[in-house]
Amino acid sequence: MKVIEVKNVSKVYKLYNKPIDILKEMIKIPKKTYHKNFYALKNVSFDIEKGESVGIIGVNGSGKSTVLKIITGVLNKTSGDVIVRGKIAALLELGAGFNTEYTGIENIYLNGLMIGYSKQEMDKKIDKIIEFADIGDFINRPVKLYSSGMFVRLAFSLSIAVEPDILIVDEALSVGDIFFQSKCYKRMEELKKQGTTIVFVSHDLGAVIRFCDRTIVLNNGEKIAEGNPHEMIDLYKKILSGHLNEDTENQIKKINNYGKTWKSEMVVNKKSNIYGDDTAEIFDFGIFDEKNNLTSVLIKGEIFTIKEKIKIKKDFKNPIFTYTIKDKTGNDLTGTNTMYEMVDTGDAKSGDIYEVSFTQKMNLQGGEYLISMSCTSFEDNNFVVRHRLYDILSIVVMSNKNTVGIYDMESKIKIEKYK
Ligand code: ADP
Ligand code: MG
Repeated sequence: MKVIEVKNVSKVYKLYNKPIDILKEMIKIPKKTYHKNFYALKNVSFDIEKGESVGIIGVNGSGKSTVLKIITGVLNKTSGDVIVRGKIAALLELGAGFNTEYTGIENIYLNGLMIGYSKQEMDKKIDKIIEFADIGDFINRPVKLYSSGMFVRLAFSLSIAVEPDILIVDEALSVGDIFFQSKCYKRMEELKKQGTTIVFVSHDLGAVIRFCDRTIVLNNGEKIAEGNPHEMIDLYKKILSGHLNEDTENQIKKINNYGKTWKSEMVVNKKSNIYGDDTAEIFDFGIFDEKNNLTSVLIKGEIFTIKEKIKIKKDFKNPIFTYTIKDKTGNDLTGTNTMYEMVDTGDAKSGDIYEVSFTQKMNLQGGEYLISMSCTSFEDNNFVVRHRLYDILSIVVMSNKNTVGIYDMESKIKIEKYK
């Protein structure tokens, strides 16, 4: 279940050169705008599943706090949608949610009430909170007397004590000392095991790797990538050092297409014959050229890849993934499958997603072709079609040299001439 959905969220600040410009714009004399639009977030989208731990990284000013504040509702978005399912506890920047004139204990009750706990419920929690915060008698003193370290201790112990469905932590932990930090990570680990969803921002890349299932990279208010923490940290380091090369750009491009389907960019045959027993679904597919670009046009002689994504809906053994290429009149020209190629596909379990790539050289003559694909298997020696998409894709092969028939043997010709 998705507990957080961020859809095309933007946050625009109007920036004015001088304070007087705000006034001028308000009274509209002369009638013109005096501000520049600054995008703190630009069209950011991502989902977070229940129980996931997701890190958000990016250089200062990249929009991390902005997006967390919008998720928690502290800040309004300019456009887009945010859906949150569950009780959120957030450890945002220092100060948020605390009344500095009140004592630590009073603030604990105040915050509890704000989240929806009764005084009695908080009575049961208070000892644990005080113990975890471990700030001695300061708990009875006004929060304005706290050091930032004490403040974080109190805020963190409060946010975990309220047993949130979603815990959001924005860099706060970097303020505390190392012992307190490790105590917090341990507690977060426990919460994670109990199924709490955690979103956190940290400059501690080690913690991001240890703790996150997934990491999102923001840069200049845009989500440039999302994925495995190691890969994302690698990318982040390149941004930090200003070394964004072609590889990195490609990586970003690939990840930015996350969520988009391949098939939406292909020529899909609307009259394709589709059938199966509904135990698996080929839910996406595409053709990629040598440079890993989606395409419906291939050049004869180039390496290309057919990719299929299959979702398994019921357990079965050894799925067979296939592709076939036909000419326009329906003759099978070539094709293969994971059984012929003796690729072990293992046991398919309900909920599994397979991504299968067939990479080969395009040796067909120039012309138009149809591609079919399927997921099949044998069950008690019977052949079962899980899902088959007949003639689903149309591709064009371009060639500047054709040979006889359908296939190019790539003959090498040598001539010797005698007299
Ligand atoms: P991060 O947490 O990644 O360091 P923030 O989300 O705090 O970044 O800020 C993103 C950008 O938005 C920054 O450039 C920041 O200066 C700008 N920003 C934040 N708040 C305001 C504001 N109230 N008015 C104008 N710009 C702001
Ligand atoms: Mg920040």
